Amino acid sequence: MPDTFTPPAIPTTPVTPAILDGLRTIVGDKGLILDEQGKEPFVRDWRGTLIGTAAVVVRPGNTDEVAKVVKLCFDHGIAIVPQGGNTGLMGGGTPYPGHTGILLSLGRMNKVVEVDVVGYSMTVEAGCVLQTLQETAASHDRFFPLSLGAQGSCMIGGNLSTNAGGVQVLRYGNARNLVLGLEVVLPNGEVWNGLRSLKKDNTGYDLKHLFMGAEGTLGVITKAVLKLWPAPKDVATAWLAVRDPQAAIEILSEAHAASEDNVGSCELMSRAGTDMVLRHIPGVQDPLKADTNWFLLLEWSSSRPKADGAEGMAEKMEQFLADQMEAGRVLDAVIAQNEAQARNMWVIRESVAPASRAEGGGLSFDVSVATSKVPAFIDQGVKAVLDILPSIRPYPLGHIGDGNIHFSFMAPKGMDRETLRQYSPAITRAVNDLVRDMAGSISAEHGIGIEKIDELAHYRSKIELDTMRALKRAIDPKNIMNPGKILRL
Ligand SMILES: Cc1cc2nc3c(=O)[nH]c(=O)nc-3n(C[C@H](O)[C@H](O)[C@H](O)COP(=O)(O)OP(=O)(O)OC[C@H]3O[C@@H](n4cnc5c(N)ncnc54)[C@H](O)[C@@H]3O)c2cc1C
Repeated sequence: MPDTFTPPAIPTTPVTPAILDGLRTIVGDKGLILDEQGKEPFVRDWRGTLIGTAAVVVRPGNTDEVAKVVKLCFDHGIAIVPQGGNTGLMGGGTPYPGHTGILLSLGRMNKVVEVDVVGYSMTVEAGCVLQTLQETAASHDRFFPLSLGAQGSCMIGGNLSTNAGGVQVLRYGNARNLVLGLEVVLPNGEVWNGLRSLKKDNTGYDLKHLFMGAEGTLGVITKAVLKLWPAPKDVATAWLAVRDPQAAIEILSEAHAASEDNVGSCELMSRAGTDMVLRHIPGVQDPLKADTNWFLLLEWSSSRPKADGAEGMAEKMEQFLADQMEAGRVLDAVIAQNEAQARNMWVIRESVAPASRAEGGGLSFDVSVATSKVPAFIDQGVKAVLDILPSIRPYPLGHIGDGNIHFSFMAPKGMDRETLRQYSPAITRAVNDLVRDMAGSISAEHGIGIEKIDELAHYRSKIELDTMRALKRAIDPKNIMNPGKILRL
């Protein structure tokens, strides 16, 4: 957050002893956390850079309790910050330091209500941890494709509220594409039951999409009906040393047909990012000691099991990689021979965020441009940033098939976080101006939260901002639902 950041005005109605008693009547003592030490993990963000306050952390056990808590807050004008796994990277789930209201944690609502194996869907509570849902689907020979580095602790309510992306968007779409229905507690405490398992439903405005990506500013997601897919049965995972980002997008472009439309993931990594993971994450092996700055993690998967003697994903991929080497795009490559090798490749990709946290100060921009513009963006963007701070260390990576680049930089060696912060406004402006000039987005998958509130106001048009404000005022007239996130009202 820039030093010049002024927090938006938020309601400051305090939680009185009488309101606390009311909350206790609804959720019981087990559903309240009042001591400072107990509240600490909820009021601090994942990176540990944003620290807010909350009068109390409220942990309801079911939708009815959520509705009663929200109604009580609505009646008294108490602000609510909804939270899932608290892994969000934009501060959406972190209260402001001036927050006098409650933090509403969905973590106790972690039941899988129903798995409809034949209908390829499951109904779940908002506090289910993403990885648990992936495992639940797998135990029914089904696949829930949402997959991201924080999956061991992020929760589905948070995933939907941020419209999370991750490493399977290329094939399955982002979180909002994985949902059939939602149940939401509105800011006045009313429950909207939109838990329909319908693929076709053209009955007016599609309300569920309002709440996905709203970062808890329009209501509390309490349940969801999620889509499922057939479980993958034949998977090939490879680590490729590639010539440059242009080669990477050409490889992906050709991989669609070569894999018979079975590309699941295509992740770009740099040498600098890979080395950072190898430095900080124990047990990780470098799959390929190639002399290049760029790598691609490519995964193809099919739900059809490989038949004996028939060509499977790995054989198809081997032929494809040979062709790509011939074309000069791939310099070297290794296909995982077993699950452990594939897992190692994925751990490298998924450990970039924790490794960067261990590395120290840095800057990261979660942006997107049209896929074909990714190489030009990386090239021009790195130049623009190096013009401002020549010794900064770039390690761009990303879900390249979605045009999503995590445009990331480590602080120059020996530079502390405070000094780096002085460069942050100029670098942010340079990067986001380039994004705008390339008709891209300043937030591809992480959302706006606190961190990008002023950037959103700068780059979105008046008509878009006015429409968003009108929606917020209509649904949350008292501005109690995660106030001061996404928009200044
Ligand atoms: C290591 C790491 C890797 C990551 N990789 C990715 C990635 O690849 N792609 C990606 O998109 N993100 C990624 N993220 C960001 C983060 O994991 C996602 O944004 C995730 O979806 C947040 O889920 P959560 O449960 O932690 O939500 P929280 O952080 O608790 O909350 C996020 C937002 O949603 C709101 N919210 C939470 N639950 C509810 C609810 N039930 N109802 C209404 N509002 C709610 C909060 O108020 C907040 O605004 C990563 C984060 C980490 C730490």
